[in-house]
Amino acid sequence: MKLKKNQEITLKIDDLGNNGEGIGHVDGYALFVKNALPGETIRARIMKCGKSYGYARVMEVLEDSGSGRVEPRCPAAERCGGCTIQHLTYERQLAYKEKKVRDCLVRIGGVDADEVEWLPIIGMEDPWQYRNKAQFPVRMQKDNEGRPYPAAGFYAGRTHSIVPVSDCAIQHSCMKRILETVLTWMRDQNVPAYDESSHSGLVRHIYIRRAYHTGQIMVCLVINSRGISNLLQEMLLQKLTGIPGMTGIFLNSNTDWTNVILGKEMKLLWGQAYIEDRIGDIRYHISPQSFYQVNPEQTEKLYQTALEFAGLSGEETVWDLYCGIGTISLFLAQRARKVYGVEIVPEAVQNARENARLNGIVNAEFFCGAAEEVVPKLAGQADVVVVDPPRKGCDGVLLDTIAGMGPERIVYVSCDPGTLARDVKKLGEMGYGVTKVRAVDMFGQGGHVETVCLLSKLHADQHIEVELQMDELDLTAAESKATYEEIKDYVLEHSGLKVSNLYIAQIKQKCGIIERVNYNLPKSENSRQPKCPPEKEVAIREALEHFRMI
Ligand code: SAH
Repeated sequence: MKLKKNQEITLKIDDLGNNGEGIGHVDGYALFVKNALPGETIRARIMKCGKSYGYARVMEVLEDSGSGRVEPRCPAAERCGGCTIQHLTYERQLAYKEKKVRDCLVRIGGVDADEVEWLPIIGMEDPWQYRNKAQFPVRMQKDNEGRPYPAAGFYAGRTHSIVPVSDCAIQHSCMKRILETVLTWMRDQNVPAYDESSHSGLVRHIYIRRAYHTGQIMVCLVINSRGISNLLQEMLLQKLTGIPGMTGIFLNSNTDWTNVILGKEMKLLWGQAYIEDRIGDIRYHISPQSFYQVNPEQTEKLYQTALEFAGLSGEETVWDLYCGIGTISLFLAQRARKVYGVEIVPEAVQNARENARLNGIVNAEFFCGAAEEVVPKLAGQADVVVVDPPRKGCDGVLLDTIAGMGPERIVYVSCDPGTLARDVKKLGEMGYGVTKVRAVDMFGQGGHVETVCLLSKLHADQHIEVELQMDELDLTAAESKATYEEIKDYVLEHSGLKVSNLYIAQIKQKCGIIERVNYNLPKSENSRQPKCPPEKEVAIREALEHFRMI
């Protein structure tokens, strides 16, 4: 059937998309429908038809055969881009997430479902008011009489217009009072909110964090300027410092025309430069720049799962890559011989070192830098490697390096099942198979899901083959100790050319000294990969010869 814009059809919804939208099919052609749920049959109006999929709108629900639809708790739920599945029972939300993880691993990751132990998803006891962090954009709105006033809230789905929300149903209740305090200060003092279209105005974001166990609160005002007057500052501090739990107040300058929330300059206006929280028995200091999981109750369960999957006896050398403030590292350090953490944000690494001291943990060491650059340089032996990357997943060079380190187990903690599955596939090609999977719900009412995935070194024929090749790799590396960085330095010094890890990996693969390269992407992606130009290839080959790797 050929569909046309504005055409009305009867559509049975059979799946949920990544942003909580319903998906229905007409002769295999997928239609995305906002606010429709699997189990519903609707009268839909076609809004847009693309080549391989289209969008439609619900005109009427004709039949509901157990969709699990509920009335959202938050009045802004439908417009706000934050909670994409608040209109679904929590039980169904969990089932959907579990299925999503499994589907990704099987379809994209090439995992054999029968070979894996699928542990049930860990849901939240109370999926409301659980978040410990919020970054509210602030913009001018107009009241009924057309008078402008500053408002904070969340972005409507896929847009940059604001849905004013002060009483968010998944945030801690302290957020409301803080927002109202800052907004009142802005109104009283005529402090303008930021305007994205003209890059003018002052207050861009109100960023708040609250430590779950100690109640310590940090507020950071992100402004489009280098500073504010002393008088304005005094007035703000006077009001904010009266809020129970207030521990640190920051001013962050972000004068760039960008979507990135925090600017580089962070100034402590009042109080302490960090808040302290605890996960299990471990205490953590957290700076505003550092990553920290947003759901404290579930975080403990997530880390317990990672610890369990790591299977430590006390003798192991463990690497925790993308370690943030050392949360997982310190959790593991209690049961390992030595833990090495690697993290790119300097403030987080500083927190991690401080946190090790704070807890009297002496067997954890932290390195600052991009994991894909630092680990190949340091790569030593590892019994267990834990990775917990951002949504885009692990860098290919890093996966190569990890496989080369030959750990018995890789524990992959992921906030995006799609990139997890992609990386699992690559690790599978390098001799690691998925043995256990458990999803943990950190984001009730939203569509995201966290997964802990255990990959074990394969001890079959395949393994022997991989082992051999890794030995070769180890041998040359041991003789020469040439890392990607050293190769780059050598090339630069001898030919004046700058080469990337990608190019080095490509040439290594050509020379047969990487058993299987991570850049082994599907054809369509491969064609987009830059190819090493001939003069750089010559220079890299010279370096490899110099280091006696070929
Ligand atoms: N394991 C930590 C942090 C996970 S979030 C926790 O659970 O708290 C991912 C972390 O990776 C962030 O701290 C981010 O700053 C860091 N990061 C992002 N890109 C990186 C890279 N290329 N190398 C190392 N760390 C990186």
